Amino acid sequence: MASITELKSDVSVPLTVASSGSSSSSSSSSSNSSNGVDHCSILTSVGIISDVQYCDIPNGQSYDKTEERYYRNSLEVARSAVTWWNKQPHLSAVIHLGDLVDGRNNRGGPQQSHAAANLLQSTIMASKAPAYFMIGNHEMYNHDRVSLCKRFGWGRSSVVGTWADLKLAHPDSFPPPPTPTIIPHDDLVASTEEPYYAYFAIQPHPGLKILVLDSYDLSVLGRPIDHPKYVQAREMLNERNKNEDENSPEGLDGVNRRWVAFNGWIDKPQLAWLEAHLEQAAKKGQAVIIAAHIPLHPGVCSEIALLWNYDEVLSMLSKWRPFLKAVVCIHGHDHKGGTYYDEESGIHHQVLEAALLCAPGRFAYGRIDLHHDRLQIVGVDRMTSATIPFTSPKPLTASAPSTVASSSSSSSSPPPSLR
Ligand SMILES: [Zn+2]
Repeated sequence: MASITELKSDVSVPLTVASSGSSSSSSSSSSNSSNGVDHCSILTSVGIISDVQYCDIPNGQSYDKTEERYYRNSLEVARSAVTWWNKQPHLSAVIHLGDLVDGRNNRGGPQQSHAAANLLQSTIMASKAPAYFMIGNHEMYNHDRVSLCKRFGWGRSSVVGTWADLKLAHPDSFPPPPTPTIIPHDDLVASTEEPYYAYFAIQPHPGLKILVLDSYDLSVLGRPIDHPKYVQAREMLNERNKNEDENSPEGLDGVNRRWVAFNGWIDKPQLAWLEAHLEQAAKKGQAVIIAAHIPLHPGVCSEIALLWNYDEVLSMLSKWRPFLKAVVCIHGHDHKGGTYYDEESGIHHQVLEAALLCAPGRFAYGRIDLHHDRLQIVGVDRMTSATIPFTSPKPLTASAPSTVASSSSSSSSPPPSLR
C-alpha cells in the first residue's frame, strides 16, 4: 500500500483520498480525508478532468455571478493533470468530460476556436494513455458537430480519439504521438441515421465498461437549422421555454428549469445502444461507468443543469443496476461539482469540479481506480473522492433474448430478457 506521503510526492498539490464505504452505499470525502489508496489492488485507472473551458482572456464571472472563472489558469490545471496521470502506474485511459474550450474563443473566428482546441487537445493527449474527449455545449459554440466528430474521432466503430485520427484531421498542428498504446474499443454500435455521433464505449479492463453518452443527441446546438434533429429539439424547447433568452430558466420551476438551450436530450437509437451495452456488461459481470457531460439526477446538480430526458435515462439505468456490480455516473457542466448516492437505485452520481474554477495554485482532476471489490474515485485538491463498493449482481436468465431497441418505450418495465 502506498502511503499518503508517497502519493503526495507525485504532485505539489493537496491530494484527497476517500475512506472505504459501507457495503450498501457509496461514500465521498472532501479534501480533509487522509486514508491511503491500496495501489497493489488497482486493476486499472482512468484519468478524469472536466470543464477546462480554456480561453486566453482575463478571469471573469458566470452569467449569474456565482462563480469566478479562471480562463487562462485552466490550461495549467490540464498540464498538471497530465503530469500527475503520467505518474500513475495503472493508467489505461484519460477522459475529458466536455467543454474543453470556452465559447468566447469563437469571437476570434474559426481560427481562434481551432487554435484553442488544438492547444488543449494536444495538452491532454500528452497523456501516456489514450485520451478521450466528450461533447459539451461549449464544443458546439466553437465548432459544428461534423468537424467535432472528425477532430475527436467520434463515430468510429474501432478506435476513437487517437493521435492518428487527430493528425488526419489537422495534419500540421501536432507533434508525433508520445505512445501508440491503444486500448481495446468495444464496437457495439447502434444504427443511426447520422454519419457522425458522439457516443462510444471504452473497455479499459475486462471488468469495467465506460459508456460515454452524447448529451446533445437532440439539441439546438451544433447542427444547421434545417437538420431534422435541430427542428425536433427546437420544437421541444420552444414549447417549454418562452423566454427571449433561451438560456434563461425564468418562469420555470423545479426540474422544469432544465429546459434551456445549453442542455439536450438522448434519443431512442442512443438509448437502445446504451441498453445493449448494459445487457452485455451484465453478461460479462462488469462494473459500469456512465460518462455524460450533462448530469442525470436532480440530487447531484442544479436543476438548470439537468438532461432534458434525465428521467428516461435514469429509469433504464435503475432497471439494469441489480444485474451489474456497480453503476457510477460521472458528469461535468455544473461547475461547482457534487456527489449523490441514490439509495433507491443503488447508483452513485458525481459531478466533477470544473478545472475552470481553479484559481492559480488550485487543481481539480483525478482518476477512477478499478479494484476487485470497488470503484474508487481519487480526487486531487478540489475534486471530491468517493468509494463505490460492488454489490453481488443478480444472474441473468440463460435464455435471455436480446433487449436492444425494445426498451426505450417501456423503460420502467423489467428488462425483456429477465421476464
Ligand atoms: Zn457544459
